[in-house]
Amino acid sequence: MKKHVNIPIFIPFYGCPNACVFCNQVKITGKPSFEKQSVIKDIDAALSTVDNNNQEAELAFFGGSFTALPEKEMLALLEISDRYIAAGKISCVRVSTRPDAISERILGVLADHGVKTVELGIQSFSDRVLAASNRGHNALTSENACNAVKAFGLKLIGQMMIGLPFSTPEDEIYTAERICGLKADGARVYPTVVFPDTALMRMKNGGIYSPLSTEDAITRTSDVLDVFARHSVPVIRIGLCANETLSDNRYHDNYHPSIGELAMSRLYLKSMRRLLSEAKDIKGKEACFTVAKGRISQAIGQKRSNAVLLKEEYKFTRLSVIESPELNGYEITLKINP
Ligand code: SF4
Repeated sequence: MKKHVNIPIFIPFYGCPNACVFCNQVKITGKPSFEKQSVIKDIDAALSTVDNNNQEAELAFFGGSFTALPEKEMLALLEISDRYIAAGKISCVRVSTRPDAISERILGVLADHGVKTVELGIQSFSDRVLAASNRGHNALTSENACNAVKAFGLKLIGQMMIGLPFSTPEDEIYTAERICGLKADGARVYPTVVFPDTALMRMKNGGIYSPLSTEDAITRTSDVLDVFARHSVPVIRIGLCANETLSDNRYHDNYHPSIGELAMSRLYLKSMRRLLSEAKDIKGKEACFTVAKGRISQAIGQKRSNAVLLKEEYKFTRLSVIESPELNGYEITLKINP
């Protein structure tokens, strides 16, 4: 089977009629504006690194709200992708957009142009949080949009945020549960980052919003990962991708480049603790956890933090983590040796 690669084309603010309090798309993507003419150049540059024999490329229009573009512009972009599909250079297209920019007619246009996946910026299923974030739509709009995407036979990716204004950990768990309940094929989870020149920064400076501490972001993100794992909904991204702007902390307040790894490790720590609490008479023995392939470092934790903590807590003579192809996702087993 060919390996899947994404070719992301960012369209910051372009097509977005809204001003969510947290959004400064120019800063997030590092691009001041979108130039349609550069799309072909960007695609060609990305395709030159794709190995056609072993890789299958998908074009992804990310960044703004694709289906809120003026229709002429949206079609112009889709016609570009049509040409690459016809030439066999890309297999399909994915777009990200707002729930209130979805309609049956729009979904029909997307499906006719090779779009197979729609990513919806749901952010929260709490109307209180959506209003405080100035999203411009409510939870029912998101629910209807999710149902419409699925009814069209397209893949649905639900994007949600952690730590939005007035959002509680319960709101976030509820949001993850709703995304799973609406049969999403995947999710993205973004802890809120406070950028300058945003309403959120002004809310923070005015004392009506407190950014998440790293510790809170890790805990709350790991709690929603737990929900997605229980429903077998893959989380395809946690936290904003690092770029030049994000690596410069003049541009944000609370961005942590490893938030995804830290949250996944926290979820493992929780699972390990649960298994250990169910086991009897284990102090002073040897513990061996087994996890899915490629997950050992997440289970052990950054700088072996999970392993060190549990070894000390249970006075284990040794704590090891091995992998097995028989386990999936966050599945984990424990064996205690004398
Ligand atoms: S809908 Fe998306 S692009 Fe538009 S303001 Fe909100 S976060 Fe930014």
